[in-house]
Amino acid sequence: MIEHASRLTFVRILFKLIFCFGITFIATSGSFPVEAQTQSFLVVPYYGGHDVTSWFDHQYPNYGNNDRIEIYDGTIAYNWHGICGYFGNNAVAYYAQPNSQGDCIWYEGHPAIDFALSYEPVLAAADGVVVERRWWNFADRSDELGMFIKIEHSEGYETYYAHLSAAAVYIGQIVSAGQVIGTSGNTGNSSGPHLHFEVRHNGNRTDPFGGSGSSYLWREGRWQTGQWVGRSERTYLASHLIDDGDTAFVKGRTINGSYKTCPPQSCPYWYPVSGVGTNGDMLWTFTAKNSADYWARWQTVTAGLETREYDVQVYIPSSHTLTWKAEYCPFDSYTYRPTTQCMIVDQNGIGNRWIDLGTHWLGSVSAANHAGIWIDDETGEEYSEAGRNELGVDAIRFRVRNHPMYFPLQLR
Ligand SMILES: [Zn+2]
Repeated sequence: MIEHASRLTFVRILFKLIFCFGITFIATSGSFPVEAQTQSFLVVPYYGGHDVTSWFDHQYPNYGNNDRIEIYDGTIAYNWHGICGYFGNNAVAYYAQPNSQGDCIWYEGHPAIDFALSYEPVLAAADGVVVERRWWNFADRSDELGMFIKIEHSEGYETYYAHLSAAAVYIGQIVSAGQVIGTSGNTGNSSGPHLHFEVRHNGNRTDPFGGSGSSYLWREGRWQTGQWVGRSERTYLASHLIDDGDTAFVKGRTINGSYKTCPPQSCPYWYPVSGVGTNGDMLWTFTAKNSADYWARWQTVTAGLETREYDVQVYIPSSHTLTWKAEYCPFDSYTYRPTTQCMIVDQNGIGNRWIDLGTHWLGSVSAANHAGIWIDDETGEEYSEAGRNELGVDAIRFRVRNHPMYFPLQLR
């Protein structure tokens, strides 16, 4: 065994040398012992079962139009079979069999798999590092991928999660397979809420359901009553809802660099609204109002539970929630306010829904008080940008998992 292992190591070193020196003809000789590509490394990126609404087009996964769609199982839908769907004026979906028979296959040139997820938790499909998390185009909410996350995995693989309404991870964060990374949505070039899930290998778009005759890249998932099914929903020991009327909710503003709560200080730009939101109340303020800093925070209630790990959800009402980039930041009384490790939510596109903000370690043992989630009015939008200049604040839910999950701590 040892001899075999060291021989393999030697061959690997040799291969790297050859590759570095650019003598590539040896690598194509056929007998060279190259390691098999890792297969089956993905878990389903959501809880429960969901329909596939658009398949990966094997022939030209580049959004191009060549009047045919070929999917993983060898099915080819041709334009001449009959057209069953359009994007704008373009015919893009065709029937699987002639004379408008069989399934309607979506869609021409699609480089990913679309799953029917309506404002639901999105999970990391494999262990990896978050390398992008942003709006494709912060000036145009309907452009391309909208709000998206890109995760880098081992052996040249990357996954993309697009059209999100919330991103619950930060650039540089290490994530585990199955960890909540955000909430699906309808941002970017999207005709309805769904998850656009894209896999790339060495930069090339790849079908997680595999090519004809080859195996899936999924290691966890199964077909059940027409849906592709992942792991089941989480269960909780406890759930604490903190509304803007509760004592664990504090609002304020920063005056000359110091944090002042209000009341007792006056807060002229926090506007209360009744009849809207959780328990029929909410608050809002203008974004980046007069360069003064207006903020609010929701604190956890530990209630004797020996944990600081929470699944966090936020309720976004439909009123005065115009910002495309509300930042919800974990804080505790030691760091007080983190500057970069924040979740982002497109409040504008949601309307009366709970949005998943992932799992967070809130506060350290030595800073037991004042741990929770912080928000402020510096969203990246200007006061003058009507239509996206209002920040809404309502309830947050801190949930304690029945089964704790591992996730790497972030250094602050
Ligand atoms: Zn898509």
